[in-house]
Amino acid sequence: MLESLRLASDDTEFFTPMPTGYEPGRTKYVVVFGTVMSGLGKGIFSSSLAKILQDKGATVTPVKLEGYLNLDSGTLNPYRHGEVFVLDDGMECDMDLGTYERMLNLDLSRLNFCTSGQILSSVLDKEREGRYLGRDVQMIPHVTGEVKLRLRELAVVAQADVVFVEIGGTVGDVENAYFIEAVREMSYEEGPENFCFVALTYVVEPQILGEQKSKPAQVSLKLLNAAGIHPYIIACRASAPVTKKVREKIALFANVPMDRVFSMHDCDSVYVVPEMLRGAGIDTAVTDLLRITNRIDAKAEEIARTTWNDYIARFRGAEHPVTIGIIGKYTTVRDSYASIIQALEHAGTHFGAKVAIEWVDSSDLTYANAARKLENIHGVIVPGGFGTRGVDGKIACIRHVRENNIPYLGICYGMQLAVIEYARHACDLTGAHSTELEPDCPHPVIDLLPEQKKLEGLGGNMRLGGYDVAITPGSITATLFDGAERVRLRFRHRYEVNPEYIETLEKAGLVFSCKSPEHPIMHALELPADQHPFFIATQAHPELASRPLRPQPMFLGLIRAAMQYSGVQISGGLECARPKGECSREQCDPVDSSHASS
Ligand code: GLN
Repeated sequence: MLESLRLASDDTEFFTPMPTGYEPGRTKYVVVFGTVMSGLGKGIFSSSLAKILQDKGATVTPVKLEGYLNLDSGTLNPYRHGEVFVLDDGMECDMDLGTYERMLNLDLSRLNFCTSGQILSSVLDKEREGRYLGRDVQMIPHVTGEVKLRLRELAVVAQADVVFVEIGGTVGDVENAYFIEAVREMSYEEGPENFCFVALTYVVEPQILGEQKSKPAQVSLKLLNAAGIHPYIIACRASAPVTKKVREKIALFANVPMDRVFSMHDCDSVYVVPEMLRGAGIDTAVTDLLRITNRIDAKAEEIARTTWNDYIARFRGAEHPVTIGIIGKYTTVRDSYASIIQALEHAGTHFGAKVAIEWVDSSDLTYANAARKLENIHGVIVPGGFGTRGVDGKIACIRHVRENNIPYLGICYGMQLAVIEYARHACDLTGAHSTELEPDCPHPVIDLLPEQKKLEGLGGNMRLGGYDVAITPGSITATLFDGAERVRLRFRHRYEVNPEYIETLEKAGLVFSCKSPEHPIMHALELPADQHPFFIATQAHPELASRPLRPQPMFLGLIRAAMQYSGVQISGGLECARPKGECSREQCDPVDSSHASS
């Protein structure tokens, strides 16, 4: 461990455990607080701010401090909290980490996600080890000390110029109060030029008044002041651009100059936010305060900006309408599928497709009504899931798309259910099922992974994180990945294709196109091109690895097939499923309108 062993002593009230290798002043910190209410897009704001500094050549790393006592997000209901985002090292975390990975094009680690549960359990472990000997262990300074230690450890490990700290929840919440206290203490220890406090606030515009009001923002900014934090920057979320009058009021009541009170109104894509912040001058406000102007590379910034703006221009210019149906049970909560929505946007932008999503509730979907329910849909995704609700509808839907040549991408559960469907209807295995859903079924084509049989409890013990996967040469999947023999995919599952049924399924025509290099675990399947235009399913979660400038190949394949299904003619082979700019071949250009006829 990086931290020095001596933790506390009796002769001082100060408590600042330091990781080895920490150089005070080397790393700067930007801390983002939420006021008024949650759900303002703190993660989007904070990651956009991090991106504009990253564009300038600074090494940045984010961390989300999450108030709940769970050790990770693995056991949280996505209906309540949004999707569980899985990092390459297997950490199950808040969906904001997905926003950071996409915006910053970084693979993050468990150090980037910190819950109260982790902090408290670490403090209690140290107490049992006798490392606070002689001291009563207190919220201040010991628990806050643990938070400070975590932030500094991250700074050392990431070799960061700037650590972006996002404090979960809203100022005034009891559960986040000690995080705020920790950064207050730390700003004092590190010095004013090393800490930048940013408050994200909300300007309401009640319909009945028809004008913006700043009172809730004023009141909640006072709460922040009461916690000993004076923000250097205030960003005002609102649906429309925040008026000068309202910004003046906020500036006046919060003692923050007008040129540091910014409007952050709604826009058409989250990827527009960095440019919006840069346009308002928020980047120079931060670099001036933190005195890092000497670490800035203007040329790198210009290149990064051009590439990013090119993405936005392509996103806005995308004109070929394509509708993808997502079949699920949490269909009313878009946050449950945040990464899939993003992956569809990235792939659609690449091909010039304007992707619309149709949420199809699987609970009332049947084989008989599937044709009607999927009438205007050009491609279908059955996403990851757990439990029995809506499963029959999903299986019926998969049968319909398989038999009717509708492009299909199955994700995790969507692969397991595709295997069940194929076993039942193409291999005559009546009653084929998953033991997750029917433990005593006659044909358990999906069964627990061997290592899962020994485990107890449900927290943090699935097969999690990134694994290298071998691609079957000559498969469609291999073409999508441009002939690669190995790829790294991220997983989150307990069940797998039962190895005893692999031969039967293969004999009936199913191709397993990705496998574990060491074990008989099937990671992807497909139907050959002469049987179906695009039928691919994977045990992995490809949506987690999609980035705006690096769309995920399986999503590219789906969008391309869906465009073709909708009547758009696309020249070239599947090889053009490569990110623009990363391949010089002609086929890799996005759809050329001269070839397209919708
Ligand atoms: N419930 C399935 C399993 O545990 C699928 C999980 C998922 O879709 N993430 O294997």
